[in-house]
Amino acid sequence: MSLDSPTFGCTDSPVRRERGQKAVFCGLTSIVWLHRKMQDAFFLVVGSRTCAHLLQAAAGVMIFAEPRFGTAVLEEQDLAGLADAHKELDREVAKLLERRPDIRQLFLVGSCPSEVLKLDLDRAAERLSGLHAPHVRVYSYTGSGLDTTFTQGEDTCLAAMVPTLDATDAAELVVVGALPDVVEDQCLSLLTQLGVGPVRMLPARRSDIEPAVGPNTRFILAQPFLGETSGALERRGAKRISAPFPFGEEGTTLWLRAVADAYGVSAEKFEAVTAAPRARAKKAIAAHLETLSGKSLFMFPDSQLEIPLARFLARECGMKTTEIATPFLHKAIMAPDLALLPSNTALTEGQDLEAQLDRHEAINPDLTVCGLGLANPLEAKGHATKWAIELVFTPVHFYEQAGDLAGLFSRPLRRRALLNGGAA
Ligand code: SF4
Repeated sequence: MSLDSPTFGCTDSPVRRERGQKAVFCGLTSIVWLHRKMQDAFFLVVGSRTCAHLLQAAAGVMIFAEPRFGTAVLEEQDLAGLADAHKELDREVAKLLERRPDIRQLFLVGSCPSEVLKLDLDRAAERLSGLHAPHVRVYSYTGSGLDTTFTQGEDTCLAAMVPTLDATDAAELVVVGALPDVVEDQCLSLLTQLGVGPVRMLPARRSDIEPAVGPNTRFILAQPFLGETSGALERRGAKRISAPFPFGEEGTTLWLRAVADAYGVSAEKFEAVTAAPRARAKKAIAAHLETLSGKSLFMFPDSQLEIPLARFLARECGMKTTEIATPFLHKAIMAPDLALLPSNTALTEGQDLEAQLDRHEAINPDLTVCGLGLANPLEAKGHATKWAIELVFTPVHFYEQAGDLAGLFSRPLRRRALLNGGAA
């Protein structure tokens, strides 16, 4: 394949499937951005001191007078008496809710210890919902590192909410995925200008504006890691609008166009609304092209954003994809992005760390996207790396963030070039 004229399309490409040692954060990490988004929610991790430390470390930069997450620490003696653990949990929740009348949604978040102990948090949530309704709704979901990656925590959280959403016959659009408020406002503004509405967000900023759902609901995912939530919405009769994810100018345009087509928006109106922000996005991305264009890209499986981001980096920034790995490949949700990936991309689902590190070494890419645990050793070996977790803590969706998104990848290349004594 000529690099000057790459061909695109990985719809039917073979996928290497690996089930070996993994190096990823657990789903508890998602509490860091979920608790910022849902302003009347509290996340109570039922876990160990390790879980408490992880949360403190991940969210430690933020200081709240009244934090909206905490850990109910399971002690060793809980191994002996699950009945006592339930009573203790009831007591802790009662104390918390009495002290914090602002809490309207309480999430009991399962962890490795609570799963190993087989503590039934679904039953606990049901019992506690009965005790504290209607003021507080109690949910449970798992963030355990035994079976989730860090973005899956959001998926299991939102999927737990879907069965409790009110029923409706109204024809509403639901945008699914926790976006920073500034990005959510931009998304809603674009949809309003297109004449699409009413639009609801899941999750909403407050529980009293949570969407209702029914057979006339259409929804579109804003994050690619929401397969379970998507399935739960479809089971309630909602219809998914399929689109590439809104990263970069092209991704955002195709995402908006999929909604516009579903709502019969004219081509003229679409052009009028999107022309100016598209031009701004292209200009902002162009500032990074000199650094990114022609550079090779390797992605370890981590954030589940890998495929749409590889599509953005290849098509809009001119990068050459080598191996692009993702923890889980949901083919139906990823289909529009897979169709746009360079056809010579090597796709991997899952991880077998040692074997993957060997392949990485052989490829020796210009830029490696990986988890924090791999970044330092790879940097020490001379590789330019980007921490995948930054991609979920930074506003990166839609037109106005397209330049910043490209910048997240060009910065490590420039830094590495400086370390090597040259220019990127
Ligand atoms: S849930 Fe599991 S992986 Fe996550 S911090 Fe707790 S013990 Fe560690």
